[in-house]
Amino acid sequence: MHKTCAHCSASFEITDDDLAYYSKISPVFPSTELRAGYGKNYPVPPPTHCPQCRQQRRYAIRNERNLHRRNCAMCKRNILSMYSQDKPFTVFCPECWWGNKWHGADYGRGIDFGRPFFEQFAELQRSVPRISLYLVNSENCDFCNFVGDCKSCYLTFGSVYSEDCLYGSAYYSKNCVDSLVTRECELSYECSDCRKLYRCLFCQDCYGSDHLLYCYDMQGCSECIACAGLRNKQYYIGNTPFSKSEYEERKRKIDLCSAAQTEKLRKQLESIKLGIVRHYMPSTNVQNVSGTHIYNSKNTFQSFYVDRCEDCAYCMQVVDLKDCHDNNYTEENELCYEYLGMYGAKNTFFSNFCRHTYGVCCSDYCINSKYLFGCSGMRDKDYCIFNKPYTKEQYEELVPKLIAHMQATKEWGEFFPTAISPFCYNETVAQEYFPLTKDQALGKGYRWQDTKDDMPEVQKVIAARELPAAIEDIPDDVLHWAIRCEATGRPFKIIRQELDFYRQMRLPLPHLHPDERHRRRLSLRNPRKLWPRTCGKCGEEIQTTYAPERPEKVYCEACYLSEVY
Ligand SMILES: [Zn+2]
Ligand SMILES: [Zn+2]
Repeated sequence: MHKTCAHCSASFEITDDDLAYYSKISPVFPSTELRAGYGKNYPVPPPTHCPQCRQQRRYAIRNERNLHRRNCAMCKRNILSMYSQDKPFTVFCPECWWGNKWHGADYGRGIDFGRPFFEQFAELQRSVPRISLYLVNSENCDFCNFVGDCKSCYLTFGSVYSEDCLYGSAYYSKNCVDSLVTRECELSYECSDCRKLYRCLFCQDCYGSDHLLYCYDMQGCSECIACAGLRNKQYYIGNTPFSKSEYEERKRKIDLCSAAQTEKLRKQLESIKLGIVRHYMPSTNVQNVSGTHIYNSKNTFQSFYVDRCEDCAYCMQVVDLKDCHDNNYTEENELCYEYLGMYGAKNTFFSNFCRHTYGVCCSDYCINSKYLFGCSGMRDKDYCIFNKPYTKEQYEELVPKLIAHMQATKEWGEFFPTAISPFCYNETVAQEYFPLTKDQALGKGYRWQDTKDDMPEVQKVIAARELPAAIEDIPDDVLHWAIRCEATGRPFKIIRQELDFYRQMRLPLPHLHPDERHRRRLSLRNPRKLWPRTCGKCGEEIQTTYAPERPEKVYCEACYLSEVY
């Protein structure tokens, strides 16, 4: 079935499998005799938005990295928060929010069937305390957001189980600086979408390798410089083999603190990348899937950067999902649809940041709860609507009425509209994947926040190009300076842990603001979108993240395997 997107007017396909899925997740009330032909089914309608616009709408409520100073509304401490001072929310620091001095049910309210649902939900969000930074079970990570089980990390966003990682998004990693979704990596710098690396610098899409410098798409390699597309190789420079001694001799001459030398290596890698053959869908151990960077998964479509998923579609950056559609940043979920956030949810729809929930709909920041509709900040509570507790019978009578109301207002089946996002458009992840100018954003009715950096309290401000090039010439004093970003002019600081890392790895100080570094890593990736294209060798039809006009040589599975292995 083809539909026109209500947001961007593009034509998009809703497959028969999609339709079967929406019917499978549609709730039945009363639920007691679930699926026994008893009760009435409240169908989840097919989406009105194309997959891209659904993705954008989910991203538009997630602010990872734009943090501001404000006071905790409970303990009054000055804290860092994803909500700027001017946002109309009650914001608690993580300690106060996770503490038991407040209860979501205290903010409960009745349903007004005369007004749209989302308008009432937005009002509820403005009264229930919100957590300043989403930190779970983490130590010494005060400048991080959306992290769990981390220790001594700094400005990492969306990280789990990592230690001593600075800037970026590290998973199960140690001592990594400036990363973009690196998993199980150690002592690595400026690596994007890499797994199981040790001492690798400036790498992208590399796996199970060590001591790589400026490499792309390498597997099982060690000691390689400016190489791409190699498997199980050692002592290669520019995709050419060298003897161990010759390699070491050349490596010794490389000074990473010399901008001219690193620029030469980067350019060498760029030209080698253009020469190699690309797999139309880099993935491992998969069966019946489409998208890119899919691992250990089957029957998963239009999905990007996923691991251990089954029967899923339209998912990005997710792990361990079963029967989920339209998920971002989630783990260990089943039967969840249009959902953004953390883990352990089942039958949870149109929601953000719910953990260990079941039968939850249109809610955010709810934990260990079942059967919630339009709730915010509820913990260990069942059968609530707009945070007000009901009996099971009352709940099962009211929810169908509310769904019918939302059907009439055309809100049923939709994720939180961007208009009620707690954040301005350009503060959110949406701006990273679907960048808009201020005028474009305002034209679409989104809110915008002009970035203004407060100059940190420092002894002096130095332009990046005035920094000494050699790391041994950088004095400890730099910790009291602000550096002005070469590209954006934004000031940024260096912390002790970071300086020690650069010294240990013999790396220069960064010349770019952390946000600009993040933006540049993101730009290395292909868009999370599939285009039809033909295999560069046999002409077979393929679906790939390489747009047809791009210059890379993109091959189908069979042609790729015969060429590369
Ligand atoms: Zn669209
Ligand atoms: Zn082919």
